[in-house]
This record gives sequence, C-alpha cells and structure tokens, in this order.
Amino acid sequence: MVDSQYILPNDTSISLLDCCEAFQLLSKDEKLYAHYISRASWYGGLVVLLQTSPESPAIYVLLMKLFRAQTPSELQDTATAVGLSAEEYQAFLIYAAGVFSNMGNYKSFGDTKFVPNLPQEKLKDLVWQSAAYKQKPEEVESLWKVCGQLMYSLDDRQKQLGLGTKGITTYFSGNCELKDAELAQKFLDSKGISAYNTRLFKTAGPNGKTLYEVRLASAINDDAPQEGETDHKCGVYEFDGVTFRVVRGDYAPLMKKVVECLEKAKKHAASPNVVAMLERYIQSFNTGSIEAHKEGSKHWIKDAGPIVESYIGFIESYRDPYGSRGEFEGFVAVVNKDMSAKFAQLVASAERLLPELPWPKEFEKDRFLKPDFTSLDVLTFAGSGIPAGINIPNYDDIRQTVGFKNVSLGNVLAAYSSQKEKLTFLEEEDKDLYVKWRSSSFEIQVGLHELLGHGSGKLFVQDEEGKFNFDSSVVNPETGETVKSWYNHGETWDSKFCTIASTYEECRAECVGMYLCLNKEVLKIFGHEGDDANDVTYVNWMTMVRAGVLGLEFYTPENQKWRQAHMQARFVILRVLLEAGQDFVTIQQTTGSDGKPDAIIHIDRSKIATVGMAALRSFLRKLQVYKTTADVELGRAFYSKYSEVTDAEPHRFLTLRETVLLRKEARKMFVQANTRVEGDDVEFRNYEASAMGLIHSFVDRFSEGDERLESDLQELSTRDLHCWNHV
Ligand code: ZN
Repeated sequence: MVDSQYILPNDTSISLLDCCEAFQLLSKDEKLYAHYISRASWYGGLVVLLQTSPESPAIYVLLMKLFRAQTPSELQDTATAVGLSAEEYQAFLIYAAGVFSNMGNYKSFGDTKFVPNLPQEKLKDLVWQSAAYKQKPEEVESLWKVCGQLMYSLDDRQKQLGLGTKGITTYFSGNCELKDAELAQKFLDSKGISAYNTRLFKTAGPNGKTLYEVRLASAINDDAPQEGETDHKCGVYEFDGVTFRVVRGDYAPLMKKVVECLEKAKKHAASPNVVAMLERYIQSFNTGSIEAHKEGSKHWIKDAGPIVESYIGFIESYRDPYGSRGEFEGFVAVVNKDMSAKFAQLVASAERLLPELPWPKEFEKDRFLKPDFTSLDVLTFAGSGIPAGINIPNYDDIRQTVGFKNVSLGNVLAAYSSQKEKLTFLEEEDKDLYVKWRSSSFEIQVGLHELLGHGSGKLFVQDEEGKFNFDSSVVNPETGETVKSWYNHGETWDSKFCTIASTYEECRAECVGMYLCLNKEVLKIFGHEGDDANDVTYVNWMTMVRAGVLGLEFYTPENQKWRQAHMQARFVILRVLLEAGQDFVTIQQTTGSDGKPDAIIHIDRSKIATVGMAALRSFLRKLQVYKTTADVELGRAFYSKYSEVTDAEPHRFLTLRETVLLRKEARKMFVQANTRVEGDDVEFRNYEASAMGLIHSFVDRFSEGDERLESDLQELSTRDLHCWNHV
C-alpha cells in the first residue's frame, strides 16, 4: 500500500474557477486582450513541466495523447474492458487532473511526489489498449519507456523536490549539489546575471575542467548579440578554476509561442503604458533579459486598477531548491464589474448603514472613507498552482523604489467554499441550503467585511498639540463613564495592539458582516428578498460557525498559538455564539458512519435575530469600544479569553481539533475556462467541475496545431533527460 501522502485521493475536491459573468461584461478589445494574454500564459505554463521533474513532460504528453484520441468517458469503456474497476479508473483521472493542475507530478503545495493510485500493470494495460496506442504505437511506447517507471517510483530521493541526494529538481542537472549552486550564484552575481530565468547543467569540458552551462529562457536560440540588445550576457567565462558557459534558448519553442501571443495582445492593449509593458516582456522572453522584465514590471505597477489585470514571467522561487530561480507563471484576471457595482451601492448606502452598528455615533468616523477594494476574478492562472492573493513583483529593488501591487482573487476565494466540498460537520438539510446560497452569502459577507467592517469605527486621538478628535463628554458605553484612554500622538492601532491587532481587526470586520447581513437594505442591494434573504443570512451565519470549527486546524496546541489571523477570528466568533446559550449554536461530537470521530453543527435559525444578534451586538460593541479608546489591556484580555483552546467540557475543543484534522480535505483542484477567437468575437467556454471536466479543458486548450508543440516538449525533455542522467 502506498502511503496516502503520495497519492491524490479519489474524492479530491474539484471546483470551477468561474469567471463567465465578469468576462462577458468586457468590451471586445478587453476580451481579445484577455484572450491573448491567457494564451501566452498557458503556453508559458508548460515550461513548468520542464522545471519540475525529468519525467513530467513525458507524462503530460502521454496523457494528452490518450485523451486527445478518446474522451475520458470513451477511455472509461477501454478501462472497463481491460479490467480496471471504477475506483481505479477514477484514480487515473484524478492523477491526470493532478498532473495538469500542478504542471508535473509533484504537488505545488508541499513539493511531494504523487503517483497513480492503481497498479502499474493495469495502467500499462489501459495505455496499450487505448486508441492513442492503436494510432501510434511507437510514439506511445517510447513515452511509456521514459515515464512508466518514474511515474510510480518512490525512492527516497524521488519522494520530494530537492537538490542533490535530497530530492529531484530540473533547475539543476542531476549531478549538482549545494556547493555547485553556491558557486553558480557567485558567478551569476559577479556578472550581474539574474538567476530568475535560468537553469544550471554541469558537465566535463573539453579540457577536463568542470563546465557549467547556464541556460537562459528565451525564444531566440542564437547566443550572438541581437540588434539593440543592451545587456547581452552569453559567452564563455573562466571563474574560480571552472568554466561557465552562458547560453540562451532554454524552452525556446515555448517562449516563442509566448512572444507570438503577447504580440497579438499588444494590438488590444488599453493604454500606451500597457503597450510599453508588453514590449519589455517580449524583449525579455525573446532574449532572456531579466532587466527587460524588470522594466516591464515597472510599467505594470504604473497600470493602476486596470479592467484586465495580468502578470507573466519567471516569478516565484519557492520550488528552486536553492531559492533563486523563478517558476514560470502567467495569469489574467478581470475586474468583476457586477460585484464592484454592488459594492459601490453598499458604499453609497454607508451613511444609512453605519448608524445601525452597535456603538454610539461618537465612536463612528466623522466622514466615511472608502477603503481600497476591488474584486478580481481569475480567468486564467497557468503554472503549478493558484494562490488566493498575490503581492508582486518580487524584485526587491523595484518594490522599494517603484512599489508593488496587491491582487486579491475573488473567484479563487469563492471556489474554496463552493459546492463539491465534502461539507463536513453540517446536517443534511443544511448542506442543500449551503450549496444553494454559499456564494451569495460570501459576496455579501466580503462586501460588508471590507467596506463597512474595515471601513467603520473611529480611533480617539490626541494630536501633538494636545488637541482631541473627540468631545471630552463622550461616555464609554461599557462603563457609563467618560472616556479615560485614547491614542497619543504617534501611536497607531497596530503599534498599540501589535500581536493581536490583525486578528482582532479581522474579527471586528467579520462581526460587522454578520451583523449587517440581516439588514433588509443590504440584502436588497445584493438582490435578495423574502425567504431567500432569510436563507442567505442563515447560510452566512452557518458558514461562520463552521469556519470557526475548521479554524482549529490553524491552532498549534504545543505552543498554544494561532497561525492564521482570520481563522482565529472565526473561532472567537464561534465561542461568542456558543456562549450565548439557549441552544442557539451547538456542536455535537459524534461517531461518523465510518466509525471515526465526527461532529455535527446545529444552529437554531429562529434565534439568529434574537439570541444571536444580542450576543453579537454586545461582543462587537466591546471590540469597537476597546479599539476606539486604545484600551489594549481590556481588549487583549477579552480577545485572548475567547481565543483559548482547551479540552474543558462541554466543548472539548482540543478533541474537536483532532476530528477536524482527521476530516481535513485534500487540496482542491480548479477547472479553468477556455477562450477562443471566433470571427471577430471571443467565445468563452466553461467545463464541468470534475476530473473529466478538468481533463477536457486541457485537451481543448491545446488542440489545433499544438501536437507539434508536444513533440517539441518531448524533444526538450529528452535533451534534459540525457543531461540529467549522463553528466
Ligand atoms: Zn479583513
């Protein structure tokens, strides 16, 4: 039996990364621009196969061949005929979906290898009986020869990514160790060459000296200086008794496709600044110049609040075991105009909504300031995985002088709470409601949280001249006395509440969301009235209570610390609602149908407006009063009390935490849409949220003319494999 750590479970959750609505609201040029940047991203994303393991490209090409010749459901008939059980075939589909999602056979989250969860002989039988094999037996056999064994092997070195004997990497040839990486870094630094888009291959040179080849990613395969090239780096250098040869053309066929697509995107760019940005990227991907990519990134930062947002290149260096080589990544996200319009209405109603919050008007800001907030939906995220938010560029010098952007990806966050989850800890009838209203309630909660949560409440401050921004007669509603504390000049919320500042503030914002999601005007802005509105409110509260339970995963009993601000905040809210009593919220620790510990959350929805709101009102008012009056002592003690995780009766949270860990889900995979130019319009295509849908989307994505690209990919990987094994 294979350790479950090295397989993807059959019930891995697969979600649709839905961007349809946001995409349809784009203008024609915006659609075309988004389309071509997407194409560039997808082609570039294939580079990750070559950056992961020697066998990844062959596995990818083999899977593409199998599914191009037969759809997943057609191949299922073949599978049944050769004796695969339904579970075994599903395991194969999940494996294929995993290879496509991670762009290789190592998990992008955790860097461990995953292998197909069915016997190797059975998979081989399936391949040999497939239509792809019948069409081109030699091709399929040669692919199997490369990857059939490596797909399954779990030798110690192969279990994870790493350098030398510690693991697998293709950023370096197989004979490189840490000391080679260090020497190469010294060399690169001495020549002012960035490692971001490079790989290192070590061989014996003609004179018997060690020869290191530094390969730059570029479409141009010629090492001679190009016209207008200002930072040409190719050449042979003697360094520290060894020879370095800097060459370009790594991943050339793929980089060429990237450049072609960016050229097409340029024609539909929204501004001259975006054109300039694309021109620098093109220069970078053509010649391998990171300087050009940095220049492009500067233009990118200047492009504030675009309708279509994107970033592309060798970005994150997590997966280079040495930590300086970037993995290719490209994304396109679209401002969700519809959602943004609802948020704008919420802002317009702020003056009427803020007085609803449970604190005296003196504790509210004199004038409502709209916080910076736009919602982006991901259309395309190519590479090894999809984050929920990003903060780029990574070039430190640019971050300090020009700046950076914070991108929050709305539909990724939303998908983390969508339908196909196992929906642990919920009652059956609640699961149906949850599936129906989860994304609606999420939308409202996010809007309220960001705008009226983080945007509300005043801080009492004494300025450097001793003047107060509040009246000395203001009464603290908790004590009934006049206010006795405030922020002195130079003190801020963060400096005063330091270690608990962020989780406390997140908790306050979440509470505002829960509090105002009962408001009829708010519900109407988001299109909900009557019973539906009540359901949305109920699901929002249910989600928060469940999040409080799931949050226990992010608590470490050994040092009694919370590791995640939002999850701690939700646990605190859960505690508040449990404390309200009257059987409003209960958690029953039970035994599941599988005989293992389980739990069931129950919320008495008839008591939300009464018991629930009363508890929340008193809690939220305290949070605000301590914050407004800079009362860090009371605030910290109050918040810490609710953050405590013990095994005391009746809730036994530490035991519950074990159950939460036991029932934790495998990391989710995402199905992404495709776009295609039809006439002078762009067609948008969504797929089913399943392993089959995910596979289908990849086959569609690389259809016309891309078989040629796959033979290029094979050729590149064979060349790498040769170096990897025989140097
Ligand atoms: Zn927040």
